[in-house]
Amino acid sequence: MYSCDYHIHTQLSGCADNDLSIEKIIQLQQIRGVELIGITDHDYSYQSKIKTIQAAHQAIKKTEPTIRVHFGVESQMLEYQSTSINIRLASYFDYVLMAPNHYHLRGVAQPKSFSDPRRVALHEIYMFEAAVACPITDAIVHPFLLSPDVFQFSKEEIAAFSQEMMRNVEQKRLIFQLDLVSQRGLGIEISPKMVRYNQLHLVEFYQLCLERDVKLLIGSDAHSTKQMEEISLLNPILKELGITDKHLWHPNTKI
Ligand SMILES: [Zn+2]
Ligand SMILES: [Zn+2]
Repeated sequence: MYSCDYHIHTQLSGCADNDLSIEKIIQLQQIRGVELIGITDHDYSYQSKIKTIQAAHQAIKKTEPTIRVHFGVESQMLEYQSTSINIRLASYFDYVLMAPNHYHLRGVAQPKSFSDPRRVALHEIYMFEAAVACPITDAIVHPFLLSPDVFQFSKEEIAAFSQEMMRNVEQKRLIFQLDLVSQRGLGIEISPKMVRYNQLHLVEFYQLCLERDVKLLIGSDAHSTKQMEEISLLNPILKELGITDKHLWHPNTKI
């Protein structure tokens, strides 16, 4: 199976380690034998400055990577039909990762309650639908994955809460969306964050994705070199799900 990681932040993202340069990422991934990677900083890191985008692009070229390095971006849905990125800015990148649940960021629509799993389920599916319907989306990152920091739960509490949330997502509505995802050729991210945050309710979700012929994007969402290595936490889950090359999403370019 291809070894890939299509969701990596650099020092340009304020939330990432400030020594995490493009050069360092490429070097480390080459040493580790990862074949396909994607640099994906938050769209606000560029503040719509084309010069910053071009500089990042140049930095990739300058390292003369021996592996395939894509240049993507991470954006978020703010509301239905409202994104943090516009089509013009998106056109500078190989692909756009769309986050439906960046609740910690300003301007992102919030669930009516963070303590009621039914309310969170309703909001998660609504924002997921919004991301699927958005023409800029190439892949959807961390859907139905709840961060303990945002919800202010312990790791144990968030696991039980997330399971309850997922049970409240209406299956027919979800399947309808996954069929749209498949038709549009969008990717759905599977990330080691599901292990880090105790989000094992997602195993069933990914099973459903595979049943509906949805391609999965492997992404560490790394903000540090340590988190880049955590991609291996996914191995037992990928094995359990029976994921092979044919199930993987890649940016829409020849690999
Ligand atoms: Zn994100
Ligand atoms: Zn990210």
